[in-house]
Amino acid sequence: MSTRLVRAACPHDCPDTCAMLVTVADGRAIEVRGDPDHPNTAGVLCTKVSRYVERTYHPERLLYPLKRIGRKGEGRFVRIGWDEALSTIASRLREIAGRDARAILPYSYAGTMGAVQGESMAMRFFNCLGASQLDRTICATAGGTGYKYTIGAKIGTDTEQYEHAKLILIWGGNPVASNLHFWTKAQEAKRRGAILVAIDPYRSLTAAKCQHHIALLPGTDAALALGLMHLLIRDDQLDHDYIERYTIGFEQLKARVAEWTPQRTADTCGIPVEQVESLARLYGDTAMSGEPAAIRLSYGVQRVRGGGMAARNIACLPALVGAWRHAAGGVLLSSGDSYPKRTAQMERPDLRRSDPARPSRTINMSTIGDDLLRPASADFGPQVEAVIVYNSNPVAVAPESAKVARGFAREDLFTVVLEQFKTDTVDYADIVLPATTQLEHTDVHASYGHQYIIANNPAIAPLGEAKPNTEAFRLLAAQMGFTDPCFSDTDDELAAQAFDATHPRARGYDWNRVRDDGWMKLDMPAAPFALGGFPTPSGKCEFYSEQMLQAGLDPLPAYTPPYESVASAPELAKDYPLAMISPPQRNFLNTTFVNVQSLRATEGEPHLDIHPDDAAVRGIADGDLVRVFNQRGELLAKARVSDAPRKGLVVALSIWWKKLAADGRNANELTSQRLTDMGRAPTFYDVLVQVEKAPPS
Ligand code: SF4
Repeated sequence: MSTRLVRAACPHDCPDTCAMLVTVADGRAIEVRGDPDHPNTAGVLCTKVSRYVERTYHPERLLYPLKRIGRKGEGRFVRIGWDEALSTIASRLREIAGRDARAILPYSYAGTMGAVQGESMAMRFFNCLGASQLDRTICATAGGTGYKYTIGAKIGTDTEQYEHAKLILIWGGNPVASNLHFWTKAQEAKRRGAILVAIDPYRSLTAAKCQHHIALLPGTDAALALGLMHLLIRDDQLDHDYIERYTIGFEQLKARVAEWTPQRTADTCGIPVEQVESLARLYGDTAMSGEPAAIRLSYGVQRVRGGGMAARNIACLPALVGAWRHAAGGVLLSSGDSYPKRTAQMERPDLRRSDPARPSRTINMSTIGDDLLRPASADFGPQVEAVIVYNSNPVAVAPESAKVARGFAREDLFTVVLEQFKTDTVDYADIVLPATTQLEHTDVHASYGHQYIIANNPAIAPLGEAKPNTEAFRLLAAQMGFTDPCFSDTDDELAAQAFDATHPRARGYDWNRVRDDGWMKLDMPAAPFALGGFPTPSGKCEFYSEQMLQAGLDPLPAYTPPYESVASAPELAKDYPLAMISPPQRNFLNTTFVNVQSLRATEGEPHLDIHPDDAAVRGIADGDLVRVFNQRGELLAKARVSDAPRKGLVVALSIWWKKLAADGRNANELTSQRLTDMGRAPTFYDVLVQVEKAPPS
């Protein structure tokens, strides 16, 4: 038996972007494990991706192009050849583009985070076609926008440094489930004497292991940050020198946070006033004693109406106390902007022809439910006539799911889906193109949780007739008669173009070398803002943001209550008194892996975590089937009665594949299409519901 080891990268939407080693025996992958030499991965993959071989050779892999024969949503198809699939797609797209190419919409997100199989050849294709553009907002744009108003870029504390911190606030995330390698560093810090504080409405697996847990009301993180700033200023736990040299707007900030007394903060956040005081003291004392105080900020805080401001406010804290002076201090939301990406080179927006009669149109992926149902109008432009979905599963993951499904069920909508499995979205496709998995194609990855470029070499030949996304779009471009030489770039040539080798952080980036070595670390200072140098317009940490003022926003940290909460929507709360969040399960990642039998077996079935007091008044016992509903929809789940969620909160862990849930529904039946204060993002955790014992079936 001939065995070889292939260097690869985990492609999933996770900040850890692990370096993987794939063992291949006689052309078949037999094991995927973490690379022990990669400093962040350190030989460990999460449970999910340890099963990547099972996923790759899953008996339900899509291996051939398919054509729909049933009704939309039924999922009945017949096998066709690639030639028929491509010519059918090209002829429909040509016909639609003849009227108005903006009626064609790409729909994609982070099914792979790879620079090559993500948006490279695909975007070249859609740019050349003149299709509508997609605003890719579904996960991170609210927090990213807010964070950048304060700090200037999605750059922050190096994950590898957290083990040296003396205090870590784990804010709005559950790293045990979704940022495992940061969690390893946090545990090491704890072993060395650090204090870990979880700030999360839910006692997650992570919160249960921290010394302190602050279970605030969902959507009130911005208020907690304002209250902390009030106390740091009141108690003079400030680094005056840092503030003087490296920040702007301190006096305005001081005036603003004066309103945020500990009592007001506690009342808004639904926590005891002592918790607000003690958290501020802990953070201030740590910093004032010259020890590194760090924050790991996660995207959970920004899936609510005021989510952008929440991230902005939290990002102000390290500058007040001078925590940035330490490599292990500061804050990290995302390291994504550390990378000098050559996005324009990869996506070629210059291929778009400008047509004054048909100005380019952008559709927000978070409102796909409404937009697929919208007729043509002067404001909206042409009705969407075709959707090409790749790296995403909108029927399951987009908010207000019933509308999304109704949109995809339109018989006059031409839908193409590039996929590895028959997801909920595939069931609505007219044509399905089988896509390769990470073991079968080339890619190169940036990360949003560390600072390495990671290579992905193909370990095995594509299964069946599956093709990489790049190849599918290359072939489609040829069918459409697109002749620009960029459509001939190979995947290796694309990987070589992905990063700017002349930029100081990626100087000498050489794909051939990275492909062989497996990774290269960016050249970043250990403490990125120890001496200021924030990439904001002022070059300082901006407590006051002129940019925000120009954008019509409050230029100072503020608090916007959720759309839906007992305090902010009392009338609605009479009917739907419980807040609901739907964070990821440990064994699933968005909707990826829900169909992997061994992982689904571990998770069991859709659950709803509910506090004992909330269960008792509804006559609900642990294990009962419950109906969760609001003005948008309903679903059934099995109640798990525990005090993990705070009183008044229910938690529907994870987004299940609808068709793998007994009632064919998931948590997005209940979420809304209302958008955040910044970044036009969805408000998945800004939801009120009612729960009752399900009637016997
Ligand atoms: S999902 Fe995250 S933790 Fe798991 S292997 Fe991929 S990058 Fe690593």
